[in-house]
Amino acid sequence: MPEPVARRAVIALGSNLGQRHETLDSAVAALSELSQITVQAVSPVHETVAVSLDGPDPERPRFANAVAVVTTTLTPEQLLAQLQRTEREHHRVRHERWGDRTLDLDLIDYEGETRASTALTIPHPRAAERAFVLEPWADIEPEAVLAGTPIRQLLEKLRAQSPEETR
Ligand code: ATP
Ligand code: CA
Ligand code: CA
Repeated sequence: MPEPVARRAVIALGSNLGQRHETLDSAVAALSELSQITVQAVSPVHETVAVSLDGPDPERPRFANAVAVVTTTLTPEQLLAQLQRTEREHHRVRHERWGDRTLDLDLIDYEGETRASTALTIPHPRAAERAFVLEPWADIEPEAVLAGTPIRQLLEKLRAQSPEETR
């Protein structure tokens, strides 16, 4: 059997409950312990305002957000399953969509591959509008491209739209 080829994937990490920074560190450590995942780079942590379904909500606990670039021999589906396992190991309780959580791990991009099911949509359909994903990603991969558009360009567009909310 030939060795499976390692593919490049981008993972967004978020936490707004508990020891947020420790949780993000621990999630990265858990992923890097797996033989099928090699963590290539982890961004600095960004402090961001929680976003509810009707917009930014300063009343909710703030998020710590980061992005990790990994190489992996897992398929996108296997990688998502692993991310969900890691969420569960960090006491993620699923409440409402976009709610408060100890750990959220989203698969943002997998070498530009596309999936369009409810269980897995890649590239992540909301990442292009999220400064809390694009800013940490740009820290470690300023030249990255998301669904054909340079993330630098996506960030410029976001900053022009809402200079306050992209902080
Ligand atoms: P958002 O996806 O807008 O960031 P969320 O992270 O709050 O919202 P979750 O409750 O964590 O949403 O996940 C809901 C479902 O999204 C999961 O059951 C998962 O199967 C599905 N999903 C689809 N595409 C992806 C993806 N690219 N990364 C992570 N989960 C995904
Ligand atoms: Ca998310
Ligand atoms: Ca998620």
